[in-house]
Amino acid sequence: MLKQLVFSLTLLATLGVFTYSTLRYIKFFRLTRAGFPVKNFGRRFCIMVKVAIGQTKIFRFPFVGLLHALVFWGFCVILFGSIEMIIDGLFGTEKALSLLGPFYNIIMGSGDIFALIIAVSILIFLVRRVFMHIKRFEGIEMKHVSHIDANIALSLILFLMISLLGMNTFYILQQKLISLYAGQIQAGITTSPTEAIVGFYPVSSYFAGLAGNTLTPLTAQVLYQTFWWCHILLIFLFANVLPYSKHFHVFMSVPNVFLSRLDPLGKLANMDNITREVKLMLYPGVSSQASPADAPVERFGVKDAEDVVWKTYFDSLACTECGRCTSVCPANITGKKLSPRKVMMDLRARMKEKGPKMIKIGKDFSDMR
Ligand code: SF4
Repeated sequence: MLKQLVFSLTLLATLGVFTYSTLRYIKFFRLTRAGFPVKNFGRRFCIMVKVAIGQTKIFRFPFVGLLHALVFWGFCVILFGSIEMIIDGLFGTEKALSLLGPFYNIIMGSGDIFALIIAVSILIFLVRRVFMHIKRFEGIEMKHVSHIDANIALSLILFLMISLLGMNTFYILQQKLISLYAGQIQAGITTSPTEAIVGFYPVSSYFAGLAGNTLTPLTAQVLYQTFWWCHILLIFLFANVLPYSKHFHVFMSVPNVFLSRLDPLGKLANMDNITREVKLMLYPGVSSQASPADAPVERFGVKDAEDVVWKTYFDSLACTECGRCTSVCPANITGKKLSPRKVMMDLRARMKEKGPKMIKIGKDFSDMR
């Protein structure tokens, strides 16, 4: 009962902070300009399944692409176990979703394997970032804080996977030891200690086997609960750190793919008032339906964060600072300072700087920059 109470309060606090962050971003979006209307849901869904869920574009980079895809797919599978933990935490149940039978075993087994794969992939990512000095991770826009941010997010994911494997390992040990000590085998309640284990955990079973019977049931129980709490608290922390990190990409990339532009590449949207001026010059006396003469004149180009359309701001939030755009930008390659990544990073930073004042004082607020 105490565990349920503490868990419920922690979940409430997590949701509270997350809601605050979400509302803050919604207010920022309201400051941006209207973009294209979102239509063609079926086509968008297919693109999302192919590009985001199938991770097809990332395979242009075979090695890191495969690791990235495995991390993404692993997260999708592991999410199932996280939902179960929330149900267990709220209702005091144990392995609540085990009622799904064989499907449960498949998901838990895959999640256990993916936890190891993700941990290894993240270690490789960290080694590449810290020791290998990959050129596209450098650049004038990549300040020290950007590298720290990346390393913190990767370390958090690594700890998430370690805590998940630890939780599964000590769960197995706890169940085995309890059934052994309770003499259930002798009493004919179970035929093997593994019968008491709900779910299938191939990797953690291996780790549990290494520990053998060196622990007492109480120690295994305490360690299982410790890892359970560490894992769920890391999930809550991760969810609330991401909106303030470049790894917000984790939340924003899938919807951003759904919202992809369906127009042909390079197609530009006309500005109504410019169209009107041109038409007036070409056909004097013919009034334009597109924009009446007294319509307020739009600001030309992008002078500040509020001049972008909402989708461009969305792009900036989904940007993970990988530098792939800058690494193939012809201007950047020839030594110019233009960096598409910097444009995205600056937009995000500028909205964070100016947005709160615009919300407080009004959309006309200017800091003369
Ligand atoms: S905008 Fe550039 S740096 Fe950002 S995620 Fe896309 S390719 Fe990577």
